[in-house]
Amino acid sequence: MPDLSRRDLARLFGLGIAASGLQPAAAARAVSSKPRAPKGVVRISSNENPYGPSRAALDAAREAFSLAWRYPDEAADDLIAELAKHHKLPERCFLLGAGSSEILKLATTAFCGPGRKAVTADPTFESIAHHAPVSSAEVVKVPLDKTFAHDLEAMAKVPSAGLIYVCNPNNPTASLTPKARVRAFLADAPERTALLVDEAYHHYVDSPDYESAALFVSGHPNLIVTRTFSKIYGMAGLRIGYAIAQPPVIQVLAQHGAYDSVNVLAMAAAKASIVDAAHAAEGKARNAKTRAQVFADLKKLGLSPIPSQANFFMVDVKKPVGPLIAALAAKGIQVGRAFPALPTHLRVTVGTPEQMRRFTEALAATRA
Ligand code: PLP
Repeated sequence: MPDLSRRDLARLFGLGIAASGLQPAAAARAVSSKPRAPKGVVRISSNENPYGPSRAALDAAREAFSLAWRYPDEAADDLIAELAKHHKLPERCFLLGAGSSEILKLATTAFCGPGRKAVTADPTFESIAHHAPVSSAEVVKVPLDKTFAHDLEAMAKVPSAGLIYVCNPNNPTASLTPKARVRAFLADAPERTALLVDEAYHHYVDSPDYESAALFVSGHPNLIVTRTFSKIYGMAGLRIGYAIAQPPVIQVLAQHGAYDSVNVLAMAAAKASIVDAAHAAEGKARNAKTRAQVFADLKKLGLSPIPSQANFFMVDVKKPVGPLIAALAAKGIQVGRAFPALPTHLRVTVGTPEQMRRFTEALAATRA
């Protein structure tokens, strides 16, 4: 097949791109919009876990490679059986995805469209707002409240909502929406609206003000909870996550997905990870210790991060973050992207102690 120029591609796909509301530039960005991290560069930009998977997960993935020639049916059944045990819910309440990102996309496609709005906080993880226009769905962004919690009361009042997305803890602020408010929201939100609670950072939380919405799936036919193996389990590159919901919703989501989108290595590693509770506990403790140290170092610089319940944090640097992100990149430190709703806040992943030392040193140098 001959190489196609960008113009050829634009001509070929022009119709589809126009119909979806996407610009050709956005389509071209699909390769990767993230900067590469050359050797020696500190990558604290994507909320990854710098310690990687547990040894048990690595061993399981290595072993599963010998089954790479087979479709992953048994591996999926085994993992789902483990998830069912873990969450004490029937196996029919689970759907695997190539990362929780896949589930977020399926939910947007399934529940949003013309006259069925996508409602999110602002700022929050952008996935739902990114996908909604493809389904011709209007996106309504409701600002976080003063405590950086979701304003669930306002979100529930948005008319004609197809899906309300609640990110708890929230990315990028690493803040919680307290459990009493989540409970009230689940009780009061319109029954015909899908409620998606994204718990990507669940395992890092230590506040008594939090509880997982997974506890409420059996009582709420419109609730979807998503989890990922990309964070505490250290497997962002393997691409695996899952949805928890009642079987009719799981079926709808599955219908929108591709067959067998999750690979056998990821499934085997995920199953081993869930069983290895010590690895998650150790990861949580290590993250909390490093985060406390970097918070102390930031305090010495006169900076006060938003209290964090995750493996990242946000700090108000009191000036637009764009130039600071660029200045840190020039010093070999890749931090998180800018979030327009909080234009003076910098998002930073909690890396290793050495990475954080390099970050605070570089930050101090930009302020000197
Ligand atoms: N949800 C939230 C809140 C995230 O921050 C991320 C990634 O950073 C994801 C979902 C996507 O995770 P993955 O697709 O790797 O499971």
